[in-house]
Amino acid sequence: MNKHINTDPSFIREILAKSLELRVLDMTEVSSLLALEDKALWDEVFDTARKVKEKVYRKRIVLFAPLYLSNECSNDCLYCGFRKGNKDAVRKTLSVDEAVQEAKLLAGRGYKRLLLVTSEHAKLAGIDYIGQVANAIYKNTDIRILHANTAPMSVEDFRKLKSAGIGVYQCFQETYHIPTYRHMHPIGAKSDYAWRLGVIDRAIEAGFEDVGMGVLLGLYDWRWEAAALISHCRRLINKYGFGPHTLSVPRLQPAQGSWINWKHKVSDNDLKKIVAIYRLALPYVGVVVSTREPAQLRDELLSTGASQISAGSKTSPSGYLHDGDTEQFEIGDARSLEEVIDKIVSLGLVPSLCTACYREGRSGGRFRELAEKEGIKNFCHENAMLSLKEYLEDCASGEVKKKLKKVLDEEIAKSSNGLAEKFKLIESGERDIHI
Ligand code: SAM
Ligand code: SF4
Repeated sequence: MNKHINTDPSFIREILAKSLELRVLDMTEVSSLLALEDKALWDEVFDTARKVKEKVYRKRIVLFAPLYLSNECSNDCLYCGFRKGNKDAVRKTLSVDEAVQEAKLLAGRGYKRLLLVTSEHAKLAGIDYIGQVANAIYKNTDIRILHANTAPMSVEDFRKLKSAGIGVYQCFQETYHIPTYRHMHPIGAKSDYAWRLGVIDRAIEAGFEDVGMGVLLGLYDWRWEAAALISHCRRLINKYGFGPHTLSVPRLQPAQGSWINWKHKVSDNDLKKIVAIYRLALPYVGVVVSTREPAQLRDELLSTGASQISAGSKTSPSGYLHDGDTEQFEIGDARSLEEVIDKIVSLGLVPSLCTACYREGRSGGRFRELAEKEGIKNFCHENAMLSLKEYLEDCASGEVKKKLKKVLDEEIAKSSNGLAEKFKLIESGERDIHI
């Protein structure tokens, strides 16, 4: 352990106070949190992570779903159901029309934001295919923003991806530990560690101000990985004035045909710590929890720093239209979007289907500055309410509809900024009202 690590309660509380001022933590502070054992003090850490999240974003929790475009892959990542070596896989790459059908179905359920996910294969090389899919979805559905989790690209291809209207580009390093990386990625383009390590710089260079990062938790010692990831983010902040827009916490799950060694398995409690540490280390960043995790744990993580969750997800191409193709990994939370919205409301939080920031140019350094000066949360709160009003009008049913109506009525009673008039416009059929 580093001689500067200090887990004295007084130092830990100084770190928590710094985070509450929405300042990015340095590596001594991050390492001290990572080394903390004291259970009672961890409760203070979790509680502070919640407070920091609410200082930046208030109560809103952003919702989205992944749309898997392909499971044909030329890499052989040992942990993934799509790996080339999975001989039992049922392979599929969606046609542009099939991708539109899936997106339409999701839009009909109320989603406004989708994450396009692809494997890595000659069929998907360059961005022609993804660009065509994005254009067709924007043209033919009510989806307002697409993000992309694709294989790393050149700066030139990233420029094209950006001009296809992709909001956030996301790529996980998987592991920063080079021997583990080499072992896990034996063949294909992904076996090049340096190509992957440089992907975020290339995306930023091509104009992506909003990038998503993460490590696949469970491949190597999570404390080491979290420190490496945060240090990578700090380097980006020093270089560009902003770091990632989101940090995800993908935790290794069983997958068909995978070859997983569970030596570095991350426990539920450790995952809670990771979410809290990401939140405290980089207060302005969105922390994303996927449906890899079980429902109860996801609900808990919403009170320890997470700010975005996927819901109602499928991890196979055509998964929303019908079962059959191989999934990437097993899902832990099978609740529908409506069930997750219901739960978020019952936790006293605000579900949000907002997509405003990307389209209003609140990205990169501007987003970071607004968030750190506590200026983003009022946009988030009102936009969340406007998005919920649309959801209420277009999709909600039964008890959830009644609950949402109550939340929105209470909000109107508290609000003095013309929210009632905006709600009336939505009732009369106007859509996409945001600030
Ligand atoms: N194929 C691209 C790539 O590898 O970068 C795009 C993303 S891949 C479809 C999405 C992510 O899923 C991977 O980056 C990896 O972190 C994660 N993943 C793969 N296998 C997993 C598993 N068994 N459990 C949990 N997450 C997994
Ligand atoms: Fe292919 Fe990505 Fe799965 Fe690796 S993680 S096998 S690159 S889909």
